[in-house]
Amino acid sequence: MYTIKMARRILFETNKRLLWKLVWNLGVKGTKSVLAHRRRMRKGQFFPPFLYVSIINSCNLRCQGCWVDVGHKQQTIDLTAMNKLITEAKQAGNTFFGIVGGEPFMHPELFEILEAHPDCYFQIFTNGQFITEEKAKRLFDLGNVTPLISVEGNEIISDERRGRSDVYGKTLAGIENCLNANLMTGVCTSLCKTNIDDLLNEKWVDRLIEMGVLYTWFHIYRPMGPDAMPELCLTPEQQRRAREFVVEMRAKKPIVIVDAYYDGEGQALCPAANGISHHINPWGDIEPCPIVQFSNESIHASEDDNRTLFDKFTQSEYLADFRTLAQETTRGCIVLEQPELLQQVVEKHSAKDATARGTALQELKSMVPRTSQYHPGHEIPERNLYYRIAKKFLFNDFGVYHGHDHTATAAPFFVHDTGNRENPPTSASCCGGGANCEEPDVVLLGGTEQQD
Ligand code: SF4
Repeated sequence: MYTIKMARRILFETNKRLLWKLVWNLGVKGTKSVLAHRRRMRKGQFFPPFLYVSIINSCNLRCQGCWVDVGHKQQTIDLTAMNKLITEAKQAGNTFFGIVGGEPFMHPELFEILEAHPDCYFQIFTNGQFITEEKAKRLFDLGNVTPLISVEGNEIISDERRGRSDVYGKTLAGIENCLNANLMTGVCTSLCKTNIDDLLNEKWVDRLIEMGVLYTWFHIYRPMGPDAMPELCLTPEQQRRAREFVVEMRAKKPIVIVDAYYDGEGQALCPAANGISHHINPWGDIEPCPIVQFSNESIHASEDDNRTLFDKFTQSEYLADFRTLAQETTRGCIVLEQPELLQQVVEKHSAKDATARGTALQELKSMVPRTSQYHPGHEIPERNLYYRIAKKFLFNDFGVYHGHDHTATAAPFFVHDTGNRENPPTSASCCGGGANCEEPDVVLLGGTEQQD
């Protein structure tokens, strides 16, 4: 039934030129780029097939807990630098680029960047408020772009979460413009305590389908940055509920649901640890991922460094050490689970604080270990055969966790404790997050425990 409904949507609701672009540029060429990544990995070379590029820091909204320096002087990656970046990445076989911000539609040369590379596929992470009918039409003419528009709650919660008024209405207007222009449109949500009940439900997914939205993505809010809001974090139980919901909806609703943190068997992974993606910030600094705001390499050439993009990625000792640490420590998020170990890697390589605010190291030092997407004993395998097969070949840990025992280092094995990290409980003395586990997702060092 799922197959018929999904096939019907794809056949009757999409524009065939745009569908072809998606299938060819992302499906076929994207698959080849992942296979090329796997071949490179065998030689010990890591060049991510999926680069996420924050092309601008500015944004019209002021979201709670945002880690981007949206209020600082505007910084962009300009057309020339983007063309160079994309051209060099294409030489390594890449065709997919995630365009992030700030708000990408505030970039004055966004359309020129997209136009210059009809052989690539772009996913734009946006709040949708700048997507007018005319811009949606331009995106349609290009054909190689999908907007992924973030909705962060109902009318009231959206304004609260995003620091401006009428956010929900303006964002829905942007979605409508995309759908009216027949774009392949996605809607995403960063799930947190204040929006999970409103948006992680069948009614919302049905509404998206009715509207004509083709895919959705439920991220999990991560407390990072200068104004991190740990009180918004999902509890481990809520995180597992989100995973269960995604797996269930994938098996029955005719809408694609994206996720970045689980393989087909439901085992957690970090896409920076397996090297499938890394991030470039608006200053051109190469970072392991958007929340690890430390860097030793830049996409921009300098007097001391005129290497190719490929060499910068593959020769970076900092990135290599980051991946090794993440692989050895946990299948979840090293930043959330072991910020202290990440700090050691940053200091070992004297990686520069890549933020405009210059306080990333202090922020890292003030973090407390908490659980992330890794819930050993609670793996929920995909029920939808298509996802299971696709992930088996194209999205999994690619063997990077093989041979690593995480029971002494991953947060689920010691956040039950009172914070004695010298002697974290072993797997034998810990329930490992079993069925009746009520573990807190935070542990404060020095023996004070705090539960969200
Ligand atoms: S380090 Fe954490 S936030 Fe970054 S990609 Fe890995 S799991 Fe995601």
